[in-house]
Amino acid sequence: MTPETRRLIQATAVVLIYLGFCGAVAWRRRRGRVADAMLLPASGDDGVPLLVAYASQTGFAEEIARRSAEALQGAVPVRLARLDALDAATLAATRRAVFVIATTGEGDAPDNAARFVRKVMGETAGLSGLNYGLLALGDQGYARYCAFGRQLDTWLQAQGATPLFDRVEVDDGDGGALRHWQYHLGRLAGTEVPDWAPAQFLPWRLVERRLLNSGSVGGGAFHLALEPMEGQPEWSAGDIAEVGPRNSPEAVTRILAQLGLKASADVADGTLGEALAARLLPVELETLAGLPPQLLLDQLTPIPHREYSIASIASAGRVELLVRQMSAPDGRLGLGSGWLTEHAPLGGPIALRIRTNRSFHPPDEDRPLILIGNGTGLAGLRAHLKARQAMHRSRNWLVFGERTREHDFLHRTEIEAWAAEGHIERLDLAFSRDHPARIYVQDCLRAAGGELRNWVAAGAAIYVCGSLEGMSAGVHAALADELGSTTMERLAEEGLYRRDVY
Ligand SMILES: Cc1cc2nc3c(=O)[nH]c(=O)nc-3n(C[C@H](O)[C@H](O)[C@H](O)COP(=O)(O)OP(=O)(O)OC[C@H]3O[C@@H](n4cnc5c(N)ncnc54)[C@H](O)[C@@H]3O)c2cc1C
Repeated sequence: MTPETRRLIQATAVVLIYLGFCGAVAWRRRRGRVADAMLLPASGDDGVPLLVAYASQTGFAEEIARRSAEALQGAVPVRLARLDALDAATLAATRRAVFVIATTGEGDAPDNAARFVRKVMGETAGLSGLNYGLLALGDQGYARYCAFGRQLDTWLQAQGATPLFDRVEVDDGDGGALRHWQYHLGRLAGTEVPDWAPAQFLPWRLVERRLLNSGSVGGGAFHLALEPMEGQPEWSAGDIAEVGPRNSPEAVTRILAQLGLKASADVADGTLGEALAARLLPVELETLAGLPPQLLLDQLTPIPHREYSIASIASAGRVELLVRQMSAPDGRLGLGSGWLTEHAPLGGPIALRIRTNRSFHPPDEDRPLILIGNGTGLAGLRAHLKARQAMHRSRNWLVFGERTREHDFLHRTEIEAWAAEGHIERLDLAFSRDHPARIYVQDCLRAAGGELRNWVAAGAAIYVCGSLEGMSAGVHAALADELGSTTMERLAEEGLYRRDVY
């Protein structure tokens, strides 16, 4: 059995589980089907179709591309196409695209992408108007892991195309990485994308919740600590906590009252109250009125997971998070952040799974580390600083940005202590609102260009964590200006430039 055949079987299993899980009929009715090279109806966008292109050897990439197109098509018109059906002119005329790309054999393009590789990638193309995301499917067991996805990503950028987010790599059909891809699809579509394969959460107990930025003009940033209720999970700095959010008890009570149902009613997975807490609650209730509890639940989609960078190391025996409380313009709290920072009772259980995130793991060797981040991006950097403290690796340079020193210096005591004892060798802080001319982390990097080059010459790796919009592009531009694009490419190729940006 080839790796892709195995993945196709896995994907089919994932799809079957998923369809059974949230109700195949309701799903199909809501989402419709996507056909090859077919334009699907727009809903409130500029009418330009978003291209979903795939290169598949035996069908796994195609299946993921179809499901991606289905996830997007309720919000934007979508065109699904094989990579081979595209030419440079079509790509140049496309504003937004996502690519789902398999690698076959010893790092080759799938057979059905051969024409594209020869005719399109063999030439240059002006793709400066194209913004894209790329999912690379591969198998770590092969030396040239995700090679064709990486090759296409490099080629697209060389033609002037702009990545909307960092390439997502999926090792052997890994469900966690696919859920991360779905997070990006959700952001593109502006809607919730139900998890294709729900995470296998374990119960963790919320043992600490502390506001770190009292008085800030920004959303509350909370330090949370969770202890496992089962086993002693292991993880590495850079890994991600997938959380299964719940609705607030008030929201569940309100909907039960509106529908005239009892929280204690029995349903397949416990009581109706518990099950509703884990479903996306509809605003329109007309079509649901009068349904018996189980049928009502079958109409409702499970709340998709949320992801949070882990801010602690496994030897601490607890997962710590740094979570920004998000709220909609009408004041409603975000589902994930509202659950963690306000609704979840202290001492109560949280559904959590740890997702291995190799692309943000520490370097294997002892080398200097430049850690750059803003806001809650400090979470991922903090885990690295803690891991390095345990290994007595103190050549660390932290560049951190937030709004004001007075209110937004997250984990201030710890950071200042690390700086004082030399675990942070160099500390640059960019409190944007403390300066009339707004200083950001990228400005710190530009101001310290000479030092940056010295650290990189001494073998430093660069780790960036925090916001995708604003910070990550600004930091990348500053690094490229100071270090040169050839050095940046080398660092990326050697795994010495790593990002966890969202
Ligand atoms: C790798 C990674 C690491 C992150 N680390 C942190 C961190 O350390 N601290 C922190 O505060 N935030 C972090 N985030 C952001 C976090 O996951 C949530 O997006 C954020 O808390 C807002 O979610 P919410 O449910 O509170 O808000 P909501 O308003 O409910 O959701 C915000 C928006 O994001 C969309 N969305 C969020 N998750 C999904 C999903 N799974 N599927 C589809 N759409 C989705 C929603 O549709 C909505 O448009 C991280 C995100 C990623 C991808």
